[in-house]
Amino acid sequence: MESALTARDRVGVQDFVLLENHTSEVAFIENLRKRFKENLIYTYIGSVLVSVNPYKELEIYSKQHMERYRGVNFYEVSPHIYAVADNAYRSMRTERRDQCILISGESGAGKTEASKKVLQYYAITCPASEHVQTIKDRLLQSNPVLEAFGNAKTLRNDNSSRFGKYMDIQFDFKGAPVGGHIINYLLEKSRVVHQSHGERNFHIFYQLIEGGEDDLLRRLGLEKNAQQYQFLVKGNCPKVSSINDRNDWKIVRKALSIIGFTDDELLNIIASVLHLGNVQYGGEDSGSAYITTETQIKYLARLLGVDGTILKEALTHKKIIAKGEELMSPLNQEQAASARDALSKAIYGRTFTWLVNKINDSLAYKNASVIGLLDIYGFEVFQNNSFEQFCINYCNEKLQQLFIELTLKSEQEEYEAEGITWEPVQYFNNKIICDLVEEKFKGIISILDEECLRPGDASDITFLEKLEDTVGGHAHFLTHKLADGKTRKVMGREEFRLIHYAGEVNYNVNGFLDKNNDLLFRNLKEVREQAQKKKDIYIYTAATQFKNSLAKLMEILMSKEPSYVRCIKPNDAKQAGRFDEVLIRHQVKYLGLMENLRVRRAGFAYRRRYETFLQRYKSLCPNTWPNWDGRLVDGVSTLVKHLGYKPEEYKLGRTKIFIRFPKTLFATEDALEV
Ligand code: ATP
Ligand code: MG
Repeated sequence: MESALTARDRVGVQDFVLLENHTSEVAFIENLRKRFKENLIYTYIGSVLVSVNPYKELEIYSKQHMERYRGVNFYEVSPHIYAVADNAYRSMRTERRDQCILISGESGAGKTEASKKVLQYYAITCPASEHVQTIKDRLLQSNPVLEAFGNAKTLRNDNSSRFGKYMDIQFDFKGAPVGGHIINYLLEKSRVVHQSHGERNFHIFYQLIEGGEDDLLRRLGLEKNAQQYQFLVKGNCPKVSSINDRNDWKIVRKALSIIGFTDDELLNIIASVLHLGNVQYGGEDSGSAYITTETQIKYLARLLGVDGTILKEALTHKKIIAKGEELMSPLNQEQAASARDALSKAIYGRTFTWLVNKINDSLAYKNASVIGLLDIYGFEVFQNNSFEQFCINYCNEKLQQLFIELTLKSEQEEYEAEGITWEPVQYFNNKIICDLVEEKFKGIISILDEECLRPGDASDITFLEKLEDTVGGHAHFLTHKLADGKTRKVMGREEFRLIHYAGEVNYNVNGFLDKNNDLLFRNLKEVREQAQKKKDIYIYTAATQFKNSLAKLMEILMSKEPSYVRCIKPNDAKQAGRFDEVLIRHQVKYLGLMENLRVRRAGFAYRRRYETFLQRYKSLCPNTWPNWDGRLVDGVSTLVKHLGYKPEEYKLGRTKIFIRFPKTLFATEDALEV
């Protein structure tokens, strides 16, 4: 007994539910720290897995480890991402219910690594035939491809996903993975033309330049020197010690061919974007821009298969519609440069979508059971927060809403269905914030759209003013203006603050309109007005597109049974062994872990159907062994009384026994071993 206590002192508890003082954040973080020190990066809150990025390779992902988790219950083995994967798989198989695994956490916390571990687990442990092997390979190889095109080195993470990803893994009736489907969200296209100091463009550009074979580069008109390309020098960071672009190029090339990309169309487009970045302008006396870099145009025309003259005109003019007629109006140098950038972003964005579609084609399958994997940006708070953070944090509000809907409500419903008194748990329902952002007509997004599409003097500031007029009185919205006409000093004049479920964030409205218009569509405003009359096309703004795709995502997730993985980044230095308490405390807050634990502890940690419970433990009591003839509930009652369960430790529902603390169940499990 004493040695067990010492072990617990040293390595902490593997389920936070078992903490003596479960409301103490200090105790929570201390438990994380103890475990982290011992390389125990995984801990549960009930069935939620908390994972701390170790920033080093741990020997816990071998095939033997996978075997250890196959078909085994949560509480029988130490916490692991494989346990979550296996549990979802078994629920899918036995309950015939689609599953999803929701992975959240801030940049660098280990979401993408976790999702890869899940995929690997299925690829290795699930049954396979020859055809299935092909699909498994494609599923696995979709990762390096998407990472090459959608990930980049940022200050926070050398391999940061710059898009959100939802992936369905489809299984046939034998439980073999037979297909998949990927949906991508909000690729950070602005990175194509600009990178902050110390950051890079998407990996693929450097891979191609560093690794591309000589004749390939010659055909694409590229030089083997990233410094030559305007789109690659903004962050002043061509090389990263943790990244081997040349090697990665080989991996990506192979992955592309496994998925079935045979032609070089994709590379033509990547090269075109680099050439576009090097297109430069001069200015006529009239102010109109002209192109000074003919070589780039030559390559562009060839790679994109367009006429050079038309391309030049497109890069220096804009189409306007006046009195029903199309006219080409010349751009000045600055406008032309931003048209070039807009085109580059659009080309890259569309290529990414096309790539995802091609991968989906290669994985297509119908009529399957599904496990969905969501790897999406966590809550973001920076010094300066803009449109992107607004979208990302809105997404997190929606996911929190889903968590509430799925976990708390279903928990409550089950108690009611089982006839067990539900002691209501106080929690903050963030629906009010979701509404503030997305409500039709008076939500922030609809006000933003209204300003974007309003001809005349609309600007970021008029947008802010309109917000003040419309949602100024909302409990979760603030600006520098106080109700009595005074000024709130701590806030800038171009900011609004949202009080999110996870904390307060100030957003600077600068650039909101442009980003929402998605630049490429800027000149289409006029077209849209015409089109609306005709009602044949409708151009969505960036925020509305995002809102719609999130609504679809919520629908997909709602139809599935969720598991949660909450990832934590231990330090900002990307170093092993460093546990930065301040940073971790923030994340515990943003991830809502204390609330999670409170809800979990307020209820019953474990529940089992009577027949399952009796079947498993009947041997522990002479009255239920070998068979119990009476009602199941009486059998379970007899059994647990014999085992010495105290009345406050359990409740008997209509079909299930509810056990308040996992340790009660642990003891019973232990008794089975003896
Ligand atoms: P982003 O939001 O920026 O995409 P992320 O949460 O997806 O971040 P990852 O890319 O998964 O973060 O992890 C960042 C890095 O941390 C990885 O490249 C890897 O070096 C390390 N890492 C993460 N998880 C693990 C793990 N389980 N074992 C070892 N190293 C890990
Ligand atoms: Mg990632």
